[in-house]
Amino acid sequence: MWRRYRRTAFVLQAAALTGLPFLEMNGESALRFDIAGLKLHFFGTVIWMNEFHLVLAGCIFLVLLTAAVTVAFGKVWCGWLCPQTVLLELAGWLVNGTSPGRRRVVVEKAVLMFFSAAASFTAISYFVPPSETAERLSAAGTVTAFFVVTGAAVYAVTALFGRSFCRSVCPCSMLQSVLFDGDTMVIAYAPDRGCTGCKRCVKVCPVGLDIRKGTARECIACAECIDACAASTGGRDGMFPVGYRGRVKRPKTFLFGAVALLSGLVLILLVSARPAVDFTVTRDALQGAEGVNSYRYSVRNNGNERLRLSLSVEGPFELIGAADVALEPYGARSGRVMLRALRRARTAVFVLRAGRVRIERRVAFL
Ligand code: SF4
Ligand code: SF4
Repeated sequence: MWRRYRRTAFVLQAAALTGLPFLEMNGESALRFDIAGLKLHFFGTVIWMNEFHLVLAGCIFLVLLTAAVTVAFGKVWCGWLCPQTVLLELAGWLVNGTSPGRRRVVVEKAVLMFFSAAASFTAISYFVPPSETAERLSAAGTVTAFFVVTGAAVYAVTALFGRSFCRSVCPCSMLQSVLFDGDTMVIAYAPDRGCTGCKRCVKVCPVGLDIRKGTARECIACAECIDACAASTGGRDGMFPVGYRGRVKRPKTFLFGAVALLSGLVLILLVSARPAVDFTVTRDALQGAEGVNSYRYSVRNNGNERLRLSLSVEGPFELIGAADVALEPYGARSGRVMLRALRRARTAVFVLRAGRVRIERRVAFL
């Protein structure tokens, strides 16, 4: 039973992880970090480099949510959601699908190499526009090196090391274990429920554990031993020896849940406080003639509408170098303008009009 649910979860996760860079929203990947433009394409919107506090807030929310889920349900992340688990499961399905025979080992290696290359190609598409990935790969540059290193890492995990990373050094697994208490939901063995001694639970364990010796830190909560035990004992009234034990409703769960909820609310507040148009002006270090100051400006369109930009100045100044321009959805523009003082003044006010938005920026004039 649990295997069916896990397979569904893996298929959905694999489809999402593989498809997101290739899925187009507002003309860009649904999820991709644009290294050249220093911006993150995120489900139809753009998060700029200087807005990465939003990404940080999102990561904190996910970590706290994972912690709350772990306190309540144990290592759900390891057994059901971890990308490495998904990779290993998918690789296992592919290898098991190869036909037995004298060349089986060679075929398995070839299948895993192809799988590693496909996973590496997908990883690159999170940084390079998918339409350019093949071309950049053939250019034998940084992208090619990334492809080789990532592909080799995936092959090493799927073909050589398997679960040894989870068992030994995975920090995520160790952190989750720290969150456990006596009531956390874990997969455990109850000797008083008619164990037949068939050892099926041991044979199916991907980590090589014997659940009958107690719940180990290395257990990834995959529930394979529950399915095996249920099949072996006939699943009498759901009372087979291996099963979930624990209590979800308890103060610690509510405390962690509340903290995760609070961080989610902070994230929503930060996102909703984001301006439709971002405008900054700074006085340039390079200055012109006497009575003339130089300024650098940058404008970012955080919406999905094309905007007409108009830059002007208030005060006794002549603005030099500004022109009305269009700014594409989620586009950015930066430039340099000059101010010439028409009479003595210490400050100037730049005014940007973009659609219905009017933004003022006060700057010093020396
Ligand atoms: S003990 Fe059971 S739940 Fe834990 S890893 Fe092994 S098979 Fe999965
Ligand atoms: S699968 Fe169940 S019945 Fe068989 S050895 Fe393991 S705990 Fe005992």
